Amino acid sequence: MWAHVGQPFAETAYDVVVVGAGRMGAFCARELRRLAPALRLLLVEEGGLPNEEGATLLAPGVWSAHDAPPGREAEAAWTRAQLAGPLGDVQFRAAPLVRLTAQPTPGSRPTAEALAAHPEALALLDPAALPWAQVDPAAATFRPGAVALNAAQEAVRLGADLLLNTRACPGGGGEVTLERLSVTNTHEVVVHERRVVRAAQVVIAAGAAGAALAEHGLGVHTAHGRAYRQSPRLEEPSTEASPTLRAGGLTLRPQAGGWTLAPAIWHRDPQGYVPGGGALTGVPTGLRRETLEDLVALMDAVPALAGGGLGLGRSLSDVPGAWLALPHGRPDAPPLWQRLDETHTLLLGGPLADVLGLGVAHGLAAALAGVPERPWAPAG
Ligand code: ADP
Repeated sequence: MWAHVGQPFAETAYDVVVVGAGRMGAFCARELRRLAPALRLLLVEEGGLPNEEGATLLAPGVWSAHDAPPGREAEAAWTRAQLAGPLGDVQFRAAPLVRLTAQPTPGSRPTAEALAAHPEALALLDPAALPWAQVDPAAATFRPGAVALNAAQEAVRLGADLLLNTRACPGGGGEVTLERLSVTNTHEVVVHERRVVRAAQVVIAAGAAGAALAEHGLGVHTAHGRAYRQSPRLEEPSTEASPTLRAGGLTLRPQAGGWTLAPAIWHRDPQGYVPGGGALTGVPTGLRRETLEDLVALMDAVPALAGGGLGLGRSLSDVPGAWLALPHGRPDAPPLWQRLDETHTLLLGGPLADVLGLGVAHGLAAALAGVPERPWAPAG
């Protein structure tokens, strides 16, 4: 492992180079070490582990059967099983998810009854506006950042090489240019050293940057997009036993004694979109306008959003946010891997990575290792 720029790195060839150590790349690397120990593997990450700016660190970390696309239930269950055990401590906590609606849905029951044991959750809502509750008892919460960290650490334990603070630029013919980054005393990020390694296979697991890397480095155009998601805090009391709530596409996840909000993503952000804050009654906020509008629309049903507990911020940097990949440009598209040419494969997580990401990353590792891809499929 070569963690920092000062440490010498002289390798020139690998069987597989994985670009990006978010949860998708890190888990793919771990699975490759398990399934194909004979393959020499390099994992390259532009930032740290996990990167503070990556989608992984700010992902909701909510697994729910409600989110599994039809036909992918077994793969989602496999992802849950990985989170619950083999990955080490990812702060996995089994806790129901309660989806609140104005109209009854299959299997729903009255909100007041479903949340009777959770007054702290009921206190956020107006049960008259959201009278129906559909409960997913198998739901769970976890820390996606710990998934990336544990998976990368295990990959290294199993023999992978890891370069941190290194930007990888895939090019034609399996050449990958590695730019080892350093920070000057005026906080400028500079390229300290440039090296080229050759790879038989390159996995581009660079999150929201993946599609652009494919386009710029390889000249392959894809239909994938990206979106900027902010995760504001709602400082109202929650407990260790609080359920995760969902209303109007907004997920409220109990965390650290309050709630972390995961707003719905409706569409890709246009080319060239630069995240910027909105304004509420003329006062600047760090929350982007679209998210603010969604929250305002929910304020009658979830009056807690109109209280002083919502972390609106004053400028963008006050509200945590990250770019995430949008497979096919669609918020409801599952994570995927896609061959770009004989050497390169794009691996994308996106909005459904919490529920399916590990299964998809495993599927790619298995395909590269030449072993059966679907441990979750019924035998035969
Ligand atoms: P995912 O959920 O797909 O893993 P993330 O955004 O969390 O998405 O992870 C992508 C990771 O890839 C980030 O940690 C980011 O720093 C890293 N990354 C992006 N571009 C490059 C690059 N050119 N070289 C190395 N790492 C990169």
